[in-house]
Amino acid sequence: MIRIEDYVPIAGQAVVEELFLLAERLSGRVIQNINSTAVGGGVAEILSRMIPLLGQLGVKAKWDVIKGDEKFFAVTKKFHNGLHGVPIKINNEEYEYFLEVNRQNAADIVFDDIVFVHDPQPIALIEKRGEVGKRWVWRCHIDFSRPDPKIWKFLSQFVTRYDATVFSAPAFAQKIPVPQLLIAPSIDPLSDKNKELPEQTIDSVFERFGIDRSRPVVTQISRFDYLKDPLGVIQAYKRARAHVDMQLVLAGGGATDDPEGPMIMERVKEEAEKDRDIFALFLPPSSDIEINALQRGSTVILQKSLREGFGLTVAEALWKAKPTIAGAVGGIPLQITHKHSGILTHSIEGTAHWIRQLISAPEYAAKLGANGREHIRNNFLITRHIKDYLLLFVSLFHDGDIVYL
Ligand code: UDP
Repeated sequence: MIRIEDYVPIAGQAVVEELFLLAERLSGRVIQNINSTAVGGGVAEILSRMIPLLGQLGVKAKWDVIKGDEKFFAVTKKFHNGLHGVPIKINNEEYEYFLEVNRQNAADIVFDDIVFVHDPQPIALIEKRGEVGKRWVWRCHIDFSRPDPKIWKFLSQFVTRYDATVFSAPAFAQKIPVPQLLIAPSIDPLSDKNKELPEQTIDSVFERFGIDRSRPVVTQISRFDYLKDPLGVIQAYKRARAHVDMQLVLAGGGATDDPEGPMIMERVKEEAEKDRDIFALFLPPSSDIEINALQRGSTVILQKSLREGFGLTVAEALWKAKPTIAGAVGGIPLQITHKHSGILTHSIEGTAHWIRQLISAPEYAAKLGANGREHIRNNFLITRHIKDYLLLFVSLFHDGDIVYL
């Protein structure tokens, strides 16, 4: 079992001691996280690492997952896409169904001292806010730079009833009469997904998937989601491949709250069948060692998202000192300074150009990766994230306003 003290060599003694001091100030309070999926995607990834660590600090943290059927998740995926700027229509019946499922869940949940609601799916639980003394925080993980005005209008009636909101990047801040905090997500350097791996393990994963490590490998790890642009990645690969030898790996799975995954996966598979250097790998949940090995064994990592709340996969790649090319969207520019800690692109052409460049200039690529790793160490490790959350929770029980962004 990983202990909080194990983070001292990576994050420093002072950081870990401070966590214990802050945790003490929450003694007796229970933090209840609520989201919509236990596996798949960044929110589940973070909660599964953070909750046990909070426990070790002496903070009682729980995690509840709301229940929904196919129809509910079809509506919430529409919300997700619309909030990310994809043109969609949601009718009144769908809004009503969303509320009905939230109300059913609210009736079943016993709320704790701090109700920490993640993302739009469970946002309307706040209708059930009753008892004085409890604190409610809405934590938005998605790219909120240009939300669809209609969906935002619908959601904001709930957002404004929370005590505070948390966004991942300054660009997502909204005009709302509720305190907004900026807290970037993080990765856990000691998890199976991010810990050091023996070369042998990396080799055996590549062998198992039939990928040749003696040739360049370019990899994107992502849920199969339109907004991760896997088909754009294939286009970029084709352009770069005309000039430089390489293989392309698109690896990922789905999330229980994302009904669109199988359709996108099918389209990627069709492309992969036409080219033996494209590997479309469907990864079941708990493929952490495989993902770690694929990231570590790749020459270049891509995250060509069209929208992105933060992009944990970028932090995961940079932590492994991998040269990374990613879309200049959402929270990704917090992680990559162009030509310093990675490469930011805006198009298929740009992505293809930089794939060629980085494969052809390994020393330059290695420098980007090394800078990227330091940037993650200083800003996006789980110890910093826990500290920010503890400060937020402590501040909720103080009189006076929380600091605005
Ligand atoms: N991930 C995973 N299995 C997959 C695809 C992704 O474990 O098949 C992980 C990935 O390593 C990262 C998280 O899920 O830790 C995805 O977080 P990110 O912020 O990149 O995107 P999201 O899926 O939340 O939009």
